[in-house]
Amino acid sequence: MPPTAPRRYADIVTRMQSIDGATCRILGDATGHPMWSLTLGTAAADRQQVLLTGGVHGDEPAGVEAVLQFLEGFGVTYLERFTFFAIPCVNPSGYEAATRVNGVGQDINRSMADDGVIESVTLRRMLQHRRFDIFLDFHEDYEATGFYMYEAQQQDRLLGARIVDAVKLIGPIDGVENTDAGLDTPISEGLFGINPKWRQQGWSAYGYFEAATHGLLPETPSTAWPLQQRVAAHHAALRIVLDHYNKEPAS
Ligand SMILES: [Zn+2]
Repeated sequence: MPPTAPRRYADIVTRMQSIDGATCRILGDATGHPMWSLTLGTAAADRQQVLLTGGVHGDEPAGVEAVLQFLEGFGVTYLERFTFFAIPCVNPSGYEAATRVNGVGQDINRSMADDGVIESVTLRRMLQHRRFDIFLDFHEDYEATGFYMYEAQQQDRLLGARIVDAVKLIGPIDGVENTDAGLDTPISEGLFGINPKWRQQGWSAYGYFEAATHGLLPETPSTAWPLQQRVAAHHAALRIVLDHYNKEPAS
């Protein structure tokens, strides 16, 4: 169910709380709202731990929808092997205002080390006691003409080339993304590394280097494609990752 204008974070929380078997709780503070998280799956030790986040930038709704629609839909088919910990909307005030920044003008994805950014503080606190096999942080790019992504894995076992090939069935690839000059490290068509220099700034880099074995950041073109096409691209990435680790343990 796509969001209707005006966007309300309360609707996100209602959808989270309506997911069968999910445990929802307040993780900490965000600007003007609590930040809600959701756990789906048992605490059994043999489950691989997956962290899913969206909406770090409030004007990137396909990431929020990708996480929610996965948990509302086909996520249940993966519960024999995975436990999901999700923060579908990291930036509630930005989501409601449809702005990249939070409600006090801060870019969370450039502020991971900043104690004055409440969303960064909440995310860092969450990671103090958690480790994840797999971490996907879903983003969008309003300047992009197609899909691209960032990825890092501790043994350099990357899935990005396969993901890019799969997304080609959904829409074009944008291989020339360079909005973070000097930080992007090209690997192959539409695939960039997660640069350790980004760790004190970007949530995906921080989360990967602090607490995850495998990190992926898919980016969909928010002005070039309709919402459900962008969600489909994010889901294609997620399916490839989960299907891969369904056969082979992450660590
Ligand atoms: Zn973003």
